[in-house]
Order: sequence, then C-alpha cells, then structure tokens
Amino acid sequence: MTSPTHDCTPEILLIEDDPMIGNSLLRALNDEGIGVEWQRDGQGGEQALRTCQYGMILLDLGLPRRSGMELLQQLRGSGNTTPLLIITARDEVDDRVRGLEAGADDYVVKPFGMMELMARIRAVLRRTARNDVQVIGNGEISLNLQTREVSYRGKTLLLPAREFALLHILIDNPGTIHSREQLETRLYEWNREVTRNAVDVLIYYLRKKFDNDIIRNIRGVGWMVLKHPTPPH
Ligand code: CA
Repeated sequence: MTSPTHDCTPEILLIEDDPMIGNSLLRALNDEGIGVEWQRDGQGGEQALRTCQYGMILLDLGLPRRSGMELLQQLRGSGNTTPLLIITARDEVDDRVRGLEAGADDYVVKPFGMMELMARIRAVLRRTARNDVQVIGNGEISLNLQTREVSYRGKTLLLPAREFALLHILIDNPGTIHSREQLETRLYEWNREVTRNAVDVLIYYLRKKFDNDIIRNIRGVGWMVLKHPTPPH
C-alpha cells in the first residue's frame, strides 16, 4: 500500500460492517461536526486508505473481504502513522493484543459507551491538529501556537498568554469584526481572567509592541485583523 499524498475532506475513516454500530457512530460524529467516510468491508477500506490521508481511522477487526488486522498490518508496514482505534468484540482479547502490537493506538470493546469513545476521538484529533498546524496567520501576522511567538512586519516577540489569546481569536477569523462582548466571551472560554477593560488593555499592549495597524478598530463596532493585508510601503 503506497502512502496517499493528499488530504481528503472527511477527518475520519470508519471501517465497520455492522450497520447499527456504523450508523450510530456516523450520527454521533456528524453531530460533533466531524466528517466521516464509512466503508463497510476490508476492500473498501483499503481502497479509501490508498486515496486519502485521514485524521484518524476507526477499524473493526472482523470485516468481510479482508480482515481489519490485515489492513492494519499493511498500513503500518507502509509507514502510514495515521492515528488508529480498533473496534473489537469483547471475546477477541488476542486480537486486541495483536492489534496494539501491530501499531494500533488504542481500542474500544463492543458494546462501548458513545460518550467515552467521542472523548477519545476528540483527544486524538486535537493532538494531531496541534502537530500539523504550528503556525497560523493572515500573511502579515503569524502566530506560532507552540512557542507563543508572534511575528509582524519583521518583528518577532514572545507574548504573554492573554495577549496571544486575543490575537489568536482575531486571526482565526480575519476580516471579521469582533465586538468587545464577543472578544470578552471568547477570552473567557479560553480560561483567561477577564477584567473590566481587558480587551482595550490587551489591544493597547499589542499595538504598543508592534504597530497601531496590527489590529484595526471599526468605530462603534469592534476590532479585526485584515484578511488580505497589503504589504507596507
Ligand atoms: Ca464486524
């Protein structure tokens, strides 16, 4: 199996022949906004793996037309390290051990609690997303999510957590105006202490450290960073 070269839209590949389990997984994942491609046998799974690079694979071991174990061995043998969770029946202890030895990251035993499974899936997706994306930006401002360094017009600074969080919120949706209330709410969600005038103070510091233009004020509405900044003259 050669490694696929391009990412595909669904984050998760589900390979499962049991229609009830497949349907409930599909529903639960879609409810979370996670895209799923569902293959119902080993051959379909193999084909999908050849075509796409997924964020994660959920693999049933007992599959028609190629076992899950064969797929797993082939996948890891080809150097593909996509996070993989085995879905297995309670009496397949040997298979679970063999699966982990063959390179599965984790397993769940049928019947499994959907909430626990979802939490584990989310954790894996968060981990891999962090590994993939370390620097985000709008072409002018760039944020390193690992080091908390911000670069703007040739100047790079390590920012305190709250200033970094504010800039991160703005840069996630460049070109969108955020009101003070929206920014305060988001800062609060980020588990940062939000005091009165917090947004104004943080923006004041950011502008002082870089340049007034780093954050644009739309009078009476809120603040934004540009979506397509033009280089300074
Ligand atoms: Ca099965």
